[in-house]
Amino acid sequence: MQRIKKAWILLALLVFFTGIYPGDTAYAAATVKVQAQNPVVIVLDPGHGGYDGGACRIWGKKKYYEKNLNLSIALACKRELEKYSGVKVYLTRTGDKYLSLDKRVSNAKQKKADLLVCLHNNAAESSRIRGACVYYPNSGWDAEIGKDGKDLARCIQNRLVKSCGIKNNGTMYRNSANRSRYSDKSIADYYQVIKGSKLAGFPAVIVEHAYVSNPEDCKQFLGSADKLRKLGAADAMGIADYLGLVKNTDPEFTSVTLEEDGTVKLCWEPGLYYQKQILYRRESGQTGYTKVAAFEDPEVQEYVDTSASPGITYEYLLASYYTGKHGFGYTGLTDIEELVIPAQPTGEGETENPENSDNSQNTQGETVQEQGNQNSSEGNLT
Ligand SMILES: [Zn+2]
Repeated sequence: MQRIKKAWILLALLVFFTGIYPGDTAYAAATVKVQAQNPVVIVLDPGHGGYDGGACRIWGKKKYYEKNLNLSIALACKRELEKYSGVKVYLTRTGDKYLSLDKRVSNAKQKKADLLVCLHNNAAESSRIRGACVYYPNSGWDAEIGKDGKDLARCIQNRLVKSCGIKNNGTMYRNSANRSRYSDKSIADYYQVIKGSKLAGFPAVIVEHAYVSNPEDCKQFLGSADKLRKLGAADAMGIADYLGLVKNTDPEFTSVTLEEDGTVKLCWEPGLYYQKQILYRRESGQTGYTKVAAFEDPEVQEYVDTSASPGITYEYLLASYYTGKHGFGYTGLTDIEELVIPAQPTGEGETENPENSDNSQNTQGETVQEQGNQNSSEGNLT
């Protein structure tokens, strides 16, 4: 499904065609928010991958493989971070792929990273050692990067300890073991990703969430997709704390699919700060939107559009708004979701199908179902 970048000029069109004038205050605030320039670029680096599996242990017949745990945490972290405004989030790897440490840093540099957050799990010879810690850059060569990294590390560690309840092993830096130095003679950082990132001009931290070598840590924090999601969410909240991010107020479509009976099912996550919602639709190429449905209940998160016709490409848009003392105001808009309703196939329908209604589109189900699945798998955890 094609995703079209939201343009706030649409709001003006929408207002024009619906005859509703949004309250000045909300309109101005929303416009400023969306037009905010230069998002913060956060690169998440799920440690290990491919033949480099990282730490691995089996507890209670369950295999804890660090490379997979790290990737699940990173995907969850990205998903959570993207709920905030003004961020662009990248992963150094999205599959089970080996990447050298230098490659991870150069990937981040290429994406113009402001931060690199490396996501790992720890291991020790003793199975009794447990807990979380975060490594940050030392103060050598560029003290400001050291300071920024330290602040970031503290924010993440704080969330891991407070939100997830992991044992607090603190935040720390680690100096080069072989006394290697930066060009200004200050002692180098031990970890290649931290050192490389510092030289590339941005702070990197290494989050060691829990010990794969400790059965309690595994069971409590790494033992299910939901537990890994919580770790990723805690990382995201820590990063958001550090950057002072605010949650995106816009609602967001989670899936728009053509059902077998020819209806269109729309599901969404509501925005923040709103009371009511309106679903709009237009045929692709047209300028004005038509109101499809209005929802007084802010809890509504899905709708079935029974009026879609075959052979038409629709663009859907959901707006959340409030009505209050100061009148009407939009608080957020989804991106436009485009859905192609295939034309009725020739040789079927009119002659063979006695019902001959818009709702007997069974033949098209498969094609569009596929598009819907693609859409809903974006950023999906499992
Ligand atoms: Zn590791």
